[in-house]
Amino acid sequence: MRNRQNFGDTSPEDFRKQLHELADWIADFRQNLGALPVAPNPAVAGPGAILAALPAEPPEEGEPFEKILGDIDRDIVPGMVHWSHPMFLGYFGWTTTAPAILGEIITAPLNVNAMTWRTCPAATELETLVVDWIRQWMHLPQEFGGVVYDTASVGVMHALAVAREEAAPSVRKHGLVGAGAPVFRIYASEQAHSSAEKAAIALGLGEENVQRVSTDAAFRMDPSALRETIARDVRDNFRPLAVIATVGTTSTASVDPVAEIASICRENKLWLHIDGAYGAGFAILPEKKSLTDGWSEADSIVVNPHKSLFVPLDFSVLYVRNLERLRRVFTLVPEYLRGDTVEAQKNYMDYGIQLGRRFRALKAWVIFRSFGREGMAARLREFVRLANLFADWINSDNGFELVARVSMGVVCFRWVGSARRADRTPQRGVPTGESDLDALNSEIVGRINASGRAYLTQTKLRDRTVMRIGLGNVLTTEEHLRTAWEMIQETANELNREK
Ligand SMILES: *Cc1c(COP(=O)(O)O)cnc(C)c1O
Repeated sequence: MRNRQNFGDTSPEDFRKQLHELADWIADFRQNLGALPVAPNPAVAGPGAILAALPAEPPEEGEPFEKILGDIDRDIVPGMVHWSHPMFLGYFGWTTTAPAILGEIITAPLNVNAMTWRTCPAATELETLVVDWIRQWMHLPQEFGGVVYDTASVGVMHALAVAREEAAPSVRKHGLVGAGAPVFRIYASEQAHSSAEKAAIALGLGEENVQRVSTDAAFRMDPSALRETIARDVRDNFRPLAVIATVGTTSTASVDPVAEIASICRENKLWLHIDGAYGAGFAILPEKKSLTDGWSEADSIVVNPHKSLFVPLDFSVLYVRNLERLRRVFTLVPEYLRGDTVEAQKNYMDYGIQLGRRFRALKAWVIFRSFGREGMAARLREFVRLANLFADWINSDNGFELVARVSMGVVCFRWVGSARRADRTPQRGVPTGESDLDALNSEIVGRINASGRAYLTQTKLRDRTVMRIGLGNVLTTEEHLRTAWEMIQETANELNREK
């Protein structure tokens, strides 16, 4: 007969041993991270290479943890883009920290389902607490209540569902056609995130009913263009529903004029959603308090602490002015959960599509207590300092130019060739024509990322390809940034010579 232990969990002695081994693995990983390639070399590990290295058949027999961990070292870690690497400057550079890792680890053995208050009172009440801490940091009035979702994309979808229901009551019950709903229109700047369209797709509002509004020279929504677009839509029998104002756009971290947009929303009775996925977190800095101008007039606002408040993926908060408005649209208690919802307490399953919910608030609570607001503010300030320093380097090199004002931790820049910027010929077709430069800027990013020594991203601004870095990693020092800058310069020169 086999040992009874085999039918249960790992023995406590073995588990303790494995945990110690894992603790060392994690500490070693963090300590030696800077020596790893930031990204796999595409020539060595192209698409499909990792899959090909792993057994395609599922295991018939159990395998020891030591072997699994060994395979992680051999096959998985080298096939990763290491977002926490000090030379990772992609996207918003957001990454993890030691307290964050501890918070994640503690959450694992607890493994509760925070769907109703009764299924885990502590998870529910801690979520309420943590969400309210962030509300205070965002200077939002108390009438704003929040709920934790995985992402901002999910947040905006829920916010627009409430806007839709309030503008056409009983769509929830009868559907858009059954409720005789008009064709709704949603407005966002041409720099706003594509999650606006995804929400419109999911809600049956139609992708093309998200109208993109033009921006000014600093990539901020132009309020007069917004007014004109709304007026045109009204004339054409569309029904304006909501405006999405962005605080920290995805390409340049530009900030829309929220207060002005808010007054347009008020005049036209439109739902105002603020997409602060990246930028709202910076409101914890007293010197950035002006960011929050107009926020108290919003109907909803999204902030991603997983982008700028040090919480690892995934953790996004949607605030709604009077959270009951959100509950009314999504509450639906099945019989088998009725007994779980008798208390007059918050049941977070009522505030969205998701029923089962993990205990996300715990990691946030560990992190916020470990750093305090001051600790987080000091780190954000360092990201801002480094971003501005990088911009100074760009400005002192004639081969490069800044293409957007530095905002928060984001710098967008472009290699403009060996010619002095002022002498640049605007003609197309010549070697330094804009489309040639597009290809070269893209090539610089490609070569650097393929080298495994640093990682940056590219984006398009006014139809031109530009390079972009995001500072958001506590492990990135000025020295790392200097090395990355030198690599960018060298790669540009190398390409120039090859031309
Ligand atoms: C990243 C981002 C989003 C989407 O965030 P997810 O949480 O990944 O859905 C939305 N809006 C802006 C401005 C962003 O930067």
